[in-house]
Amino acid sequence: MIPNLQAYQYDGPEEFHAVVGQIMAYLGYAGGHEPLPVGAQIVLRNVAGRYILEGWFGCDEKRWHSAASLWNDAEPGQVIKNLILHWHQRCYGTPVSRWGTLTGVRPTKLVHHLRDQERDENKIMDILVSRYHVQPDTARYLITMTGLQRPYIERPDHEAALYIGIPYCPSHCLYCSFPSRLSGSELPSFMDRFIVSVVRDIQDIAALCRQYDIQIRSVYIGGGTPTCLPIAGQEAILQAVAGNFREIEEWTVEAGRPDTASEEVLALLRRYGVNRISVNPQTMQQRLLDLLGRWHRVEDVFDMFSRCRKMGFSVINMDFIAGLPEQTQADMQENMEIVCQLHPENVTIHTLALKKRAPLFHHPLRQQIPPAREVSSMLQSCEDVLKDHGYIPYYMYRQKYMAGSFANVGYAQRGTISRYNIQMMEERQTILSAGPGSTTKFLSRDGHSLKKIYMPKDPEAYVQALSERIRQRRHLCAMIYGGDDT
Ligand code: SF4
Repeated sequence: MIPNLQAYQYDGPEEFHAVVGQIMAYLGYAGGHEPLPVGAQIVLRNVAGRYILEGWFGCDEKRWHSAASLWNDAEPGQVIKNLILHWHQRCYGTPVSRWGTLTGVRPTKLVHHLRDQERDENKIMDILVSRYHVQPDTARYLITMTGLQRPYIERPDHEAALYIGIPYCPSHCLYCSFPSRLSGSELPSFMDRFIVSVVRDIQDIAALCRQYDIQIRSVYIGGGTPTCLPIAGQEAILQAVAGNFREIEEWTVEAGRPDTASEEVLALLRRYGVNRISVNPQTMQQRLLDLLGRWHRVEDVFDMFSRCRKMGFSVINMDFIAGLPEQTQADMQENMEIVCQLHPENVTIHTLALKKRAPLFHHPLRQQIPPAREVSSMLQSCEDVLKDHGYIPYYMYRQKYMAGSFANVGYAQRGTISRYNIQMMEERQTILSAGPGSTTKFLSRDGHSLKKIYMPKDPEAYVQALSERIRQRRHLCAMIYGGDDT
C-alpha cells in the first residue's frame, strides 16, 4: 500500500526537474520542500555522455531500488516518466492508471498534436498505448473526442474567442477556491468604477479586433457569478459586447446561482443576444446545498430552468459536482434522473478538487468527502446515464488536486457542442480576455505556442493595473497580428 503524504527528492540536471516533478505529483508525492517524510528519491546522472536514472521508493527499512541507462533517446523526458511510473507500479503493485504516463491536465492536446502529423487513427492508438501506456479504452475515448473537436479547432487564423471574468458571487460556496468577492459587500462607488473598467477593457479589445481584422465568434462571460452584478452594470457590459462584436455565433453567460437569475436578468441577457446559459445546481439535494453554503433552494433550479426555456436560450448547460462532502451514489443518481427529465442541451460533470484556498480545506466536513472509489462509480453512472440519453462527451480536462484519475467532462446533445469550451481547452485559437483574473492567450503564428497577459485577480488591483495591461496587450497583439512574433 502507498503511504499517504510523502515527499520526493530529486538530484540531477535542472532541465529534467519539471518532468520528474510532474510524474511524482501525479503519483501523489509532494515536493522536497514540504515538511514531510521522504518516500522516494530520484537521481539522474550523466556518466560519459549517457544518462543513468536511479529510483528509490519506500522507507528506510524497506527500500526498493532500480536503475536504468537512458540511451540516445529523442524523448528523454518521456522515458524518465515511463521508468518512474513503471518502478512505482512494481514497488507498490498499484494498478496502472488509465492515462498511462500522460500527466497533463489536457491529454486531448497531445492527441491533436498526433493528429496533426498522422491521419491514421490506428497508428495514433498504437502510439498512445505503446509510447504513453494509455489503456486502450481511454485511448479510444480520446481519439473519438478529438475527432469530434477537429472541425472546431481547424478554424481560420483571424478568429478568436472573448472571455469576460466577473469575480463576484452572492456567497462563497464551501468547496470553491475561486477568489470571488461578495457582491453584497462592495461599495456602490467601487462597483461603478469596476464596471467602467470592465467596459473599457472590452472596448479596447474591440479596437484591437477592428485594427487587426479579428472576428470574435464565441463569447463567454464567467466568473464568479456575473448575474449577481447590479442590473445596470450587467447591461453596460452586455451593451459593450453586443455593440462591438457583430459576428458572435455562441454567447454564454454563467448564471451559476439560480437565486441571481431573475426574470428581469434573463430577459436582459436574451435582449442583447445571449444564446447559451449555464444553470449550475452542482447537486439537487437541499441538505447538501445548505451544507455547501449555496443560498438557494432546489425549487429555484427548476424555476430558473423553465424560465430559461420560456425565454428561448438555444442551449442550457447544467453543471454538477461528484464527490461533495456527504454526497452519495444515490444523490448522484437522483441528479441524473433530474437531468433526464429536464433534458438540458449540455451537462458538465466536475469532480471535487480540494484546493488550499477553498474553505472546505480547513473545515471538518472535509472528512466527509467520499472516497475515490465512490467518486469513480458516481462518474461512471453519470456517463452511462448521459450516453443512454443521447449525450456525447465532447471536451474534458483532468483534475490536478485529486486522488484517482478523474476528469471533468462536458457532454452535449448532438448539434449543441460549445465551441468556446473546446477553444479554451485545446488552446488552438487566441482568447482575448477582459476582467479580473482573466488571461489573454495569443496564439503565436507557429500555431502552437501561446503568449499571455494576466489580469490581476483582485478587482481593486485590476482597476489600478488596467492601463498598463492594456498597453501590454496592444503591444503583443501588434507583434502577432501585425508583424513579427519571434
Ligand atoms: S462555486 Fe461558483 S457560485 Fe460558488 S463561490 Fe465558486 S464561483 Fe461563486
